[in-house]
Amino acid sequence: MAGRSTHTFVCPECRRSIEVDDAIRETLLETGCVVCGAPVTEEDVGSAPEMG
Ligand SMILES: [Zn+2]
Repeated sequence: MAGRSTHTFVCPECRRSIEVDDAIRETLLETGCVVCGAPVTEEDVGSAPEMG
């Protein structure tokens, strides 16, 4: 079930966990948490995609 690059976003404010792909990840970094609006950092959405 691999192939797409997904990340698990965990909001530091509301603790909501959301699976996101690269596009949504970028959106989160720009606009913040979709649930509570808290600022999102790269740590919150996972680091660089795993190569392997
Ligand atoms: Zn939140």
